[in-house]
Amino acid sequence: MISKSEIKTLLDEEPRFNDITCSLQSVPKLPKALLKETRETVAIARKFNKEVVRPYALELDLKMHADPDYLPYDFVEKANDWGFYTMWLPRVFGGRGYSAPTMAPFSEELASACLGMANLVGVHYLGVSSLAATLNTRMIHKIFQDTVNGEKTGQPCLISTAITEPGAGTDVEEVELVDKADLSCYAEKVKGGYVVNGTKVFISSGHLSTWHILISYSDLGKPSENTVVLAIKTGMEGFSFGRIEKKMGQKGCPASELLFKDCFVPDENVCLDMHQMKFPRSKRAVATALLDDVLAASRAGVGAFGTGVARGAFEEAAAFASETEVEGKLLINHEWAQSMLAEMYKNVTLARGAYVETNYAIGLYGTTKDLLSKPMYYYSKFVPQFWIDKVIAPLLKKPFLTQMARKNRFKTISEKDQQLTSGMGSMAKFAGTDAGVKNCQMALEMMGQTGLRHDHRMEKLLRDSKLLQIYEGTNQLNRLNLFKCMVARNIPQAKVFEED
Ligand SMILES: Cc1cc2nc3c(=O)[nH]c(=O)nc-3n(C[C@H](O)[C@H](O)[C@H](O)COP(=O)(O)OP(=O)(O)OC[C@H]3O[C@@H](n4cnc5c(N)ncnc54)[C@H](O)[C@@H]3O)c2cc1C
Repeated sequence: MISKSEIKTLLDEEPRFNDITCSLQSVPKLPKALLKETRETVAIARKFNKEVVRPYALELDLKMHADPDYLPYDFVEKANDWGFYTMWLPRVFGGRGYSAPTMAPFSEELASACLGMANLVGVHYLGVSSLAATLNTRMIHKIFQDTVNGEKTGQPCLISTAITEPGAGTDVEEVELVDKADLSCYAEKVKGGYVVNGTKVFISSGHLSTWHILISYSDLGKPSENTVVLAIKTGMEGFSFGRIEKKMGQKGCPASELLFKDCFVPDENVCLDMHQMKFPRSKRAVATALLDDVLAASRAGVGAFGTGVARGAFEEAAAFASETEVEGKLLINHEWAQSMLAEMYKNVTLARGAYVETNYAIGLYGTTKDLLSKPMYYYSKFVPQFWIDKVIAPLLKKPFLTQMARKNRFKTISEKDQQLTSGMGSMAKFAGTDAGVKNCQMALEMMGQTGLRHDHRMEKLLRDSKLLQIYEGTNQLNRLNLFKCMVARNIPQAKVFEED
């Protein structure tokens, strides 16, 4: 009825079959144990919500409101005790070895109860992925070991990511824009290391973190080709914390200013320097890959945060509707309220679909591709600890392993795959956070219409989610990023017409 070549031609037409069926293609390839692992992480998150997050959410918000400089070490210590800061570190680096795709559903759970606390756990993994994206196995091992030891000793060792500057935000997240950005964080090459001067702002969990993965530039005139990623440890000379931003939401998670004044960073703390190593690709392509590797995955995580907020609002509104009487009957029995609840539930489900599908795409074409292959997955789970300690750990410190990892990653990377994962990451982000804001507004509208309750938790969710939209570039930028990816992938509907 239809020939093989005809099938191929038709499925390559837009929308390309492979692009719209990432989940379908993934399922037979994924290890079966991933399902069990995901069930377990979601259950752990629900238990944590019951025992820690829900009882503390409003109290922490009020505490932060009264004293915006309060640092919630108490919560971080709890999360550390529960093992959350090593949970998604690979076993070969000393962690508990949970798989990356299980993190998003975990984040949705926490965010449905409190976005500030979800971020106090989640943003540590932005630091983890920024460091991991450099593929510097020696530094990854060193810093992850600190986090593992911090868990053992009860002294949390968190990792932050420092990209945003006072004059540059969206633009530092885009290779095409970064050369026009108003940057200040200059890393000057000196004997034995770098000297850094400049300021970073809005660094989540900055004041609470021990390590900071700093994105700096050895030439501010052409940053896209002169990116230097440095590991800064709290307490290093020349490095200090500035103010904590007075935010309207997500108050539990501090957004910090990091100050660098003639801060000497030794060579051993250089995670990636475009001039020190040979890459199989142009410097610009490496910078693009670095940003995409970090942002595609973390934007899916932000999408999960937003989905959690949307869900929290839905759950709150549904509970309210089922216990509140309006005009002689329960609100939930009014048709208008049922329509609103159904709409909110739809928003949650669609937002979840966007981040789940993005996770599948990243597993097929992005950074988790190799780790999720069945042999690699089971090897990483079952490799004996003595083998890791005796054989693998010493190898991680050798420069040739970093070189090999980079060669493998940057050589095999395909621009088409990158555009797909980057575009989907952006889509998951704006789908999730838009749903969060929308559902909070609807829930407040529903509760307000009855004139019976003034709900502080709803207000908090709304404030949190509005701030979340800016978290990794605003949604306007993420829409533009998705469109740019569509143009780059030659999607005909996204053809751009040159102006005369
Ligand atoms: C809660 C929170 C936590 C954060 N945590 C971190 C962190 O841990 N580490 C870190 O490094 N940073 C962090 N940030 C900073 C965040 O990455 C930036 O806020 C974000 O990149 C946006 O940059 P900006 O605030 O400078 O806004 P701008 O870049 O000035 O954008 C302002 C507006 O202009 C629009 N715009 C900008 N450029 C374009 C363009 N080319 N075309 C069209 N429209 C455009 C944007 O969409 C937006 O609406 C955090 C921010 C928040 C709110």
